[in-house]
Amino acid sequence: MSRFPGVDYMQIDSLFSEQELLVRQTARQFVDARVLPLIRDAYNRGEFPKQLIPEMGELGLFGANLEGYGCAGMNNVEYGLMMQELERGDSGLRSFVSVQGALVMYPILTFGSEQQKERWLPKLQSGEAIGCFGLTEPGYGSNPSAMTATANRQGSNWVLNGEKTWITNGGLADVAVVWARTQEGIGAFLVERGTKGYSTSDLHGKLSMRASVTSSLHFADCVIPGENQLPSAKGLRAALSCLTQARFGIGWGVLGAAMDCYETARSYSLVRKQFDDRPIASHQLVQEKLAWMITEITKAQLLALHVGRLKDGGKVEPAHISMLKRNNVAIAVECARLSRDLLGANGIMDEYPIMRHMCNLETVKTYEGTEHIHTLVIGERVTGIPAYR
Ligand SMILES: Cc1cc2nc3c(=O)[nH]c(=O)nc-3n(C[C@H](O)[C@H](O)[C@H](O)COP(=O)(O)OP(=O)(O)OC[C@H]3O[C@@H](n4cnc5c(N)ncnc54)[C@H](O)[C@@H]3O)c2cc1C
Repeated sequence: MSRFPGVDYMQIDSLFSEQELLVRQTARQFVDARVLPLIRDAYNRGEFPKQLIPEMGELGLFGANLEGYGCAGMNNVEYGLMMQELERGDSGLRSFVSVQGALVMYPILTFGSEQQKERWLPKLQSGEAIGCFGLTEPGYGSNPSAMTATANRQGSNWVLNGEKTWITNGGLADVAVVWARTQEGIGAFLVERGTKGYSTSDLHGKLSMRASVTSSLHFADCVIPGENQLPSAKGLRAALSCLTQARFGIGWGVLGAAMDCYETARSYSLVRKQFDDRPIASHQLVQEKLAWMITEITKAQLLALHVGRLKDGGKVEPAHISMLKRNNVAIAVECARLSRDLLGANGIMDEYPIMRHMCNLETVKTYEGTEHIHTLVIGERVTGIPAYR
């Protein structure tokens, strides 16, 4: 049985099906048994725990909400609950699963040829192959439409030049989904590890997402066969549709980090005593922080669930997912800060997961569209006026 009691202030569990609860329980047990015992050391060493990859594949975690080619075909709420549990373990683990499924398998399934799907999807699903998604460049983060990486035709081949950076799993990946400018507009290309002219270098010195590999990808007259272009990925819109998938998973995932921070603070405040041998939980200012956290987590759970049901019903809009990502990351960051505060000096120690979550969540606030960018998406949705420039 899981040691984590879950967080359910308002009988939200009654809104989940038995199958959804079963998926959550399976992921919860995996995180308790396999992730929590090793994540603190992996984070401190700055290493991704690669030994977990085959097990995650066997559990069906990669591309879990996709259909066919060995994928688990989960509904989006099952998928979200799985992401929640993974990020309770660590945001780096959830990032690995997000990239593999939403940013590599999803574009191959959605925009790829039958040959590309058959070649890559079963291996990516099992974890035998690892993928990465190269969109961001050194000069272009929030505005990828200005990207400078190019892909030019040369006979039946493509020649890639340019650089991508901040790429999760870049140094581990067997295949990179790379976005580059062609004469016909932005397109996507599958670049395999070992291709001449393609190299990667890992970024060191991160104080966030330490249990995740982040790399730069370099392309210098890198020649790939014509059939490595994803034939239906046309324009930046295709790249953004992948980000929408990944942001959905983030909106659920960060709930796990927030819940872990809340539960750590709640249980600590009941045993830690100050002033007249009373638990700090008996002080009003402490209760105010716990009340804020549980209220915001409950609202965020309901938002995630509603967006998940909309997605399953084919009614979700990217702007809905922007609200989910923006809100849930913001409350998770605040839960981590409040929880750290409630643990006093102990809150800064790696014996507790709080500082690790807090540091990770700074990345989660920035990647997959910063909080500002999602604010502008919501602003455009309600005014009709784009204010990005
Ligand atoms: C650990 C990690 C992993 C990542 N993994 C990947 C990956 O796998 N693949 C990938 O392609 N990318 C990845 N990224 C990159 C990430 O998506 C970018 O960092 C993000 O898009 C922001 O870009 P930037 O860092 O260049 O910031 P900038 O775009 O330079 O933004 C800096 C600040 O300016 C603000 N800003 C920018 N434009 C506006 C505006 N119009 N209005 C208001 N404010 C604005 C931003 O909100 C932000 O606060 C990763 C990043 C990190 C940290």
